[in-house]
Amino acid sequence: MLITKVKEREKIIAALRNKNIFVFKCFGCKEVYFPEEEIDSLLEEAGVKNRVARVDYLCREEFAEKYYKKYENILKDAEAVIVFSCGVGIQVLAKILPDIPVIPACDTHYINGFQGLTAQDADCQQCGECWLNITGGICPITSCSKGLLNGPCGGAKEGKCEVDKNMDCGWVLISERLKLLKEEGALHKKSTNIRDYRLIIEGGKRSEE
Ligand code: SF4
Ligand code: SF4
Repeated sequence: MLITKVKEREKIIAALRNKNIFVFKCFGCKEVYFPEEEIDSLLEEAGVKNRVARVDYLCREEFAEKYYKKYENILKDAEAVIVFSCGVGIQVLAKILPDIPVIPACDTHYINGFQGLTAQDADCQQCGECWLNITGGICPITSCSKGLLNGPCGGAKEGKCEVDKNMDCGWVLISERLKLLKEEGALHKKSTNIRDYRLIIEGGKRSEE
């Protein structure tokens, strides 16, 4: 099972105050804890009333395509899309909107229990600190065999991973996506990203637990 936690409140409010954004909030499957009340209070504080889509199963590509079609007219003018969902939902949406920045507003944490069995194209390892805002919406942990956060290992050949030749190198995909978004510099803003493995060991305990 997983739990989504809203990222730093002030940063999300600042991002929400940009007039040309669109918001997706995926209230998710029943088994997933989703902080909807907290999100609604954030949206209210930022003055976001319209341009919000409340959806479920954003992680399913066929559903996400339908949501895209429904909001296509607004989305084509959006400067960025802010997504309240687990890491899978954010990645699926980023794939459908490859030339619009898709910003994760939540971190996805692991909690013990039954894991959903829905077949998905994207994967999230519930690392507890979502990096998708600097990697063009492609997870560096699940798309790279070594889970590298700071760029490629240098071993890729013709776009394939040195660990598994049948697999595209995640960092080649990330680099292509960042070029499309004209955000090649995103990775230089912070020179070193160190993973905090405590977030996985401790999991996503809720404050009331
Ligand atoms: S960076 Fe990847 S593993 Fe971590 S929360 Fe985001 S999608 Fe999940
Ligand atoms: S070749 Fe690419 S995907 Fe494979 S380990 Fe190196 S950076 Fe990661």
